[in-house]
Amino acid sequence: MSNSADIQRIVEAIRTRQRFVLSSHARPDGDSIGSQLAMAYALRAIGKHAHLVNKDPAPGPILAFPGVPEIEISDRVTGDFDAAIVMECGDLTRTGVTGLERFFVINIDHHPGNSGYGQINWFDASAAACGEMVFDLVKAMGVPLTLEIATHVYLAILTDTGSFHYSGITPRTFEICREVVEAGVNPVMVARNVYDSNNMGRLKLFGAVLSAMQIDRSGRIAIVYLDHEMARAAGGTYEDTEGLINLPLTVKEILAVVFFKQIEGDEYRVSMRSKGEIDIGAVAKEFGGGGHKNAAGCTVKGSIDTLQKQFLELIEGAIDGRPVSRR
Ligand code: 5GP
Ligand code: MN
Repeated sequence: MSNSADIQRIVEAIRTRQRFVLSSHARPDGDSIGSQLAMAYALRAIGKHAHLVNKDPAPGPILAFPGVPEIEISDRVTGDFDAAIVMECGDLTRTGVTGLERFFVINIDHHPGNSGYGQINWFDASAAACGEMVFDLVKAMGVPLTLEIATHVYLAILTDTGSFHYSGITPRTFEICREVVEAGVNPVMVARNVYDSNNMGRLKLFGAVLSAMQIDRSGRIAIVYLDHEMARAAGGTYEDTEGLINLPLTVKEILAVVFFKQIEGDEYRVSMRSKGEIDIGAVAKEFGGGGHKNAAGCTVKGSIDTLQKQFLELIEGAIDGRPVSRR
């Protein structure tokens, strides 16, 4: 595989440098945090300095994982580093952090359409999680799988595969999971921390949003919506909606979900999920966003009724296997 050449270049770039800043995407998730921290622990294991900077704090349940509270939350990197390692970002702007471009940038990502913004670009769309790539890199660095590193690799894979639901899972995914569990990871504890550590406001918010859910004419697409007023009324926050989008897919007939979250006025964050071969990433791309086949997103502006119609049309196309494009 071409991966090994990229990995060797990165190992060499790390060997000849001392101070690293690590960043990942805004509104972090399990894969971005897991990849970042596994990498940080590996760097420290070989005597390197690793500082972590993200635009936004980790979701509540993920704060319980080792090292997460030490991540600096800022939209700007200050200080001097020999290199920036950016993970899980198709483009450098996805970090929401400025100043990274001042350094030698090592770009490690698994999102289709990565713009190749680094001095070294290692891109592998076949990885089910960026954490799988980090696992290979850590091995190539000669670092033993400590419990911290193993835990973060597992966190990345568990969350980015939607608890082993999404396409992109390969025998290798389980091979890595086998190794990290052998290294001491307790899958029950990780799952409990990630999925069973929520507050009551979140559950109430789920109830409110799901009660208002709409289904398209064909009965295959769920449309969910949230604005600030609904969140306030339910006693939850926008952060509490993490994972909500996956619930409509638990209904057999539902093949895709689109979730509109009002940012302000007529601006909306859109998240989408789909089952199997339905390429929701292509839909997101049409609206200036991106993502994977089964999980994607974008930010859009417009009247909510018009937006819903536009998205439904394209998602229907994706389900029926028609080329996805806006006329
Ligand atoms: P989520 O729905 O969880 O916000 O995003 C799901 C996936 O879609 C993310 O892992 C990311 O790959 C992708 N994604 C979400 N929003 C955007 C966006 O605005 N731009 C791009 N390029 N990708 C996005
Ligand atoms: Mn990922």
